[in-house]
Amino acid sequence: MTQKYVYLFNDYDAAMDKCGQDWEAVRSLLGGKGANLLDATRLDIPVPPGFTVTTETCNDYLEAGETFPSDSWEQILASVKSLEEQTGKKFGDPDNPLLVSCRSGAKFSMPGMMDTILNIGLNDQIVEILATRAHRPRFAWDIYRRLIHMFGSVVMGVPDEVFEAVITAQRRESRVKSDTELDAEAWKSVTQRFKKIFKTYTGTKFPSDPYEQLRLATEAVFKSWNGKRAIDYRNASNIPHDLGTAVNIQTMVFGNMGEDSATGVFMSRNATTGDPHLEGDFLVNAQGEDVVAGTRQTMRISEMGDIMPEMYKELQEISDRLEKHHRNMQDMEFTVEQGKMWLLQTRDGKRTAQAEVRIAVDMVEEGLISREDAVRRVKPEQIDFFLHPQLDPEAVKNASPIAEGLNVSPGAAVGVIAFEPDLAERWGKEEGKNVILVRPETRPDDVHGMLAAKGVVTSKGGRTSHAALVARQFGTPAVVGVDAIEIDLENHRMTIGEDLVIREGEYLSIDGNLGLIYHANLPTVEPDIKDPYLLKVLEWADEFRTLGVRANADYPADAQRAREYGAKGIGLCRTEHMFFAEERLPIMQRMITAANDAERFEAIDQLMPMQRSDFDGLFRAMDGLPVIIRLLDPPLHEFLPSAHDLMLELTDLKLHLQHMTSLKEMDATLEKIRQKTALLERVESLHESNPMLGTRGVRLGILIPRLYEMQVQAIFEAASRCAEDGIDVHPEVMIPLVSHVGELEAIVDPLTDIAKRVCAEAGVEVPVIFGTMIEIPRAALTAGEIAGTAEFFSFGTNDLTQTTYGISRDDAETGFLVHYMQTRMLKDNPFTSIDPNGVGRLMELAIEEGRKTRGSLEIGVCGEHGGDPKSIHLCHKLGVDYVSCSPFRVPIARLAAAHAALADG
Ligand code: ADP
Ligand code: MG
Ligand code: MG
Repeated sequence: MTQKYVYLFNDYDAAMDKCGQDWEAVRSLLGGKGANLLDATRLDIPVPPGFTVTTETCNDYLEAGETFPSDSWEQILASVKSLEEQTGKKFGDPDNPLLVSCRSGAKFSMPGMMDTILNIGLNDQIVEILATRAHRPRFAWDIYRRLIHMFGSVVMGVPDEVFEAVITAQRRESRVKSDTELDAEAWKSVTQRFKKIFKTYTGTKFPSDPYEQLRLATEAVFKSWNGKRAIDYRNASNIPHDLGTAVNIQTMVFGNMGEDSATGVFMSRNATTGDPHLEGDFLVNAQGEDVVAGTRQTMRISEMGDIMPEMYKELQEISDRLEKHHRNMQDMEFTVEQGKMWLLQTRDGKRTAQAEVRIAVDMVEEGLISREDAVRRVKPEQIDFFLHPQLDPEAVKNASPIAEGLNVSPGAAVGVIAFEPDLAERWGKEEGKNVILVRPETRPDDVHGMLAAKGVVTSKGGRTSHAALVARQFGTPAVVGVDAIEIDLENHRMTIGEDLVIREGEYLSIDGNLGLIYHANLPTVEPDIKDPYLLKVLEWADEFRTLGVRANADYPADAQRAREYGAKGIGLCRTEHMFFAEERLPIMQRMITAANDAERFEAIDQLMPMQRSDFDGLFRAMDGLPVIIRLLDPPLHEFLPSAHDLMLELTDLKLHLQHMTSLKEMDATLEKIRQKTALLERVESLHESNPMLGTRGVRLGILIPRLYEMQVQAIFEAASRCAEDGIDVHPEVMIPLVSHVGELEAIVDPLTDIAKRVCAEAGVEVPVIFGTMIEIPRAALTAGEIAGTAEFFSFGTNDLTQTTYGISRDDAETGFLVHYMQTRMLKDNPFTSIDPNGVGRLMELAIEEGRKTRGSLEIGVCGEHGGDPKSIHLCHKLGVDYVSCSPFRVPIARLAAAHAALADG
C-alpha cells in the first residue's frame, strides 16, 4: 500500500494506529489544528466535515522541489469526494456547490504566521446561481470577493493594500461608513475590480476551476512554511524548522448569512487573569477573519448570552467538554450558521503567567489536574513575569492617563514612541533605548519591532488580536484597541482628541494591567509577589523539591525580602559589599593603602562596629536559619581610587599653587599634595595586572591576619548579642578563593579560637562552623584534602567558570564569547548556565571527594547560577544540598528545584 497522505476528520482510529496510539505523534503528523479537529469530531462536537493533509506531505513536497509526492494529490481528490458524500454537496457544482477552506496548521500554533483561504470552490458561474437561488445576492458576492482577495494576496502575492483600497473607495462611492452597509451591487462591483487587479498583478485570470484553486491554495500553505515571517517566528519561539505544516481542507460554514449567524473567537477562561469565565469577541453576520482582523468593532462574548442565549449555552457546554477533555484552558473559534453552532478550532490557550498560575490552581481545586501537574505547568521563567516592574503608584497619583484600551498583557513599560517596527528595532537593539511600539494594529511582519520594544500599543484590535497574542507570548506589556488614538504614520505622530499631538520619540508610559497609557516618563517599581495563587503553587513546589534554596543577601533588608520569598537561610553574604557604602569606603581605602600596621589597625578597628551592626541585622532577619558569611574578598582595584584620577588631581593642585596668595593656603595645599603623592605611590605599588587573579580572598586574609580576625570577632559578637536576645543564630564562616588546603589550615585554627573566646566571654552557646568556597579548579581537584578542614563547601560558580575556562568574566558580555554563542559553538553562556561537562564535572568530583572525607559535608552553590533553572537542574542531579541566589530569584529557584525533582521521578 502507498503512504497515507490524508486523514479525514473522522479517521481518528486510523491516525492513532499509524502513530502507535501516541497523541504527540498524531499532533506531529496532523499539526495541532488538524489533530484537535479530529479529536473534537470523535467527541461528537459539531465540526464541519473536513480532512487533513499531513506534515509529511508538506516536507516531501518541499523536498521534491515543490511537487506533490506520489499519489498525494489523488488522495486529496478522493477525500473531497468523501466530503461531498458527507455534505450532499458537490465541489464545482453550480446547483449545490461545496465550498471549502484551506487552512495551515503546524504542530505548534504560530498565530497569524501561516495563511488561510476561505470560500474555495466559487467562480463566476457559481456565484451568479448562488446569488439568485439562495436569494442572497449580497452574501454570494461578499464571499466571492473575499475568495479573490485572499487567494490573490496569499497564493499569488498581490499586495493586500490594493484590495483594501478598492473597498475603501467603494465605501466612499456608496456613501457608507462600514463594510456591513455595502449591498450586493457594491460587492459585485468590488469583485469585478478585484478580478482586474488579480489579472494586472499576476498576468493570469483568477482560476475558475475549483480544483485548480484547491491545488494552488494547498501548495501556497506548504510554501508558506518557508516564508520569511514563518522562519522569523520559529526562530523567536524556538520551534524547529523541520516539522512542516499540515493543511486542513474543511467544509465552509457561514457566519455571514444574516442576523441568526455569527462568528467569534474565545477562551474558556480569561487569558490575562485566569478568571474562570468565557472571554472573547464575536460579530453577528460576519465571516471568520473579520473578528481577528480588528477592522470591525467586536462584541464581548458575554453579550452573546443576551443576543443568542441558546447558542451561548451551547458554546459554554462545548467549552466545558473540551476543557475537561484536554485538562487545559482552550482557545476556540466558532461560527453560527443560521442558528446552528459549529466549532472550527480548539487549542490550548496562550495566557499570561498570572493566568497560568491561577488556572493551574483552580484546575487542581476543580479536580481536573493534580498538584504535580499544576507545579509542572508553571514554568520557572513565568515567575519572572510576576516580578515585572509596575508603574510607581506614587507617580501615578499625580499623573493622568491620556487614553484607555484593553489590558491584554500585564506589567508596565516606559519608553520613547516608535511608530515603525524597523525604527523600534534600531532604537531598541542598536541604540539601547527603551521603546514603545505604537501601531494601528500589528501584523506578522511587525514581530521584530515588537520583540525589540519594551511595550506595545495599538489603536485597533481586540483581546485576541495579533498584537495581544504576540505580546502575551513574549511577556511584553501591551495595551491594544486604544480607539482614542489617531495615528498618523506618514507624519510620525499621533493625536488624541482635538489638541494633544504626540510625536515619535516622545515618552509614553503604559500600564498593561489596567490598559492605561500616560504621556510621561513615569518611574517604575519592582513589585512584591503576594499573588495568593502563586503562593499556592510555590507551596506545592516545596512539597516536591529536595534541593534547598537560600539567598545571597548582604543587607538586612535583602535578608528580610529573601525570607518572605521563601529562602531558608543565607547562602552568601559578601562582606566587601558592606564596605562600598559612602561613609565606609574611605576607611576601607585607608586600610588597604596604610603605610604601616598602626595605621592599618586603626582603620580596621573603625570598621569593626559597622560590621557588627550589619551582622546583627542579618541574624535577626534569619532567626532560626543558617547565615553564611564570607570573609572579605575584594579584588583590590574595586576599592582603590584610580592612579589616573590621582595624577590628574595632583596636576591640578600643583597648577593652583601658582595662583595662591596666602601662605596658610599654600601650606594646606602642599600637605594635600604630599598625601596624594603618598597615596598614588601606594596605589601604584598595589597595582596588579590582573586583580581578579591577585591579592584577593584568603590571600589577603593571610597577608593581613588582623582583617579576618576583626571580621570573625564582629560576627561572633553580633551572634552572641542576638543569642542573648533569644534569637536562634546559625553563623557559618566562609573562606573565599582557597586553592590549597594549607591556606585554610593556616587561618582556621586561630579564627576558631577567637570565635570560641567571644562566645565564652558572652556566656552563650553559638555553633562555630568554618567552610570554604570552591571556586578554583585546584580546590575542586583537592576537595578531599580541603574537606579535612572545611566543614562545608559552597561552589562559587562565577569564579569557578572564569578560572576553569580561563575567560575573564568581566569581558564575557562583549568579546569572543558572544561570537561563540552566535555561531552556536557554545549553546549557553557558561556564565548564565553552568557548563555541565567542564565546571559540572569539577563539581561532581569535588562533591564525591569531599563527602568521602567528611560524610556530613554540606554543599551549596552560590553565584548567579543559583537562580538559573538549567543550572538548578544540574545541581539537583549532582546531589548539591542547596542553591543560593538573589532574593528576587528565590521563587524561581524553588519552582525550578521542584521541576528537577519531578523530572527525576
Ligand atoms: P488562523 O490560524 O489565522 O486562525 P484559521 O485557519 O483558523 O487561521 O482561519 C482563519 C479564520 O477563518 C478563522 O476565523 C476561522 O474560524 C475561519 N475559518 C476557517 N475555516 C473555516 C470554515 N471551514 N468555515 C468557516 N470559517 C472558517
Ligand atoms: Mg491566518
Ligand atoms: Mg484560527
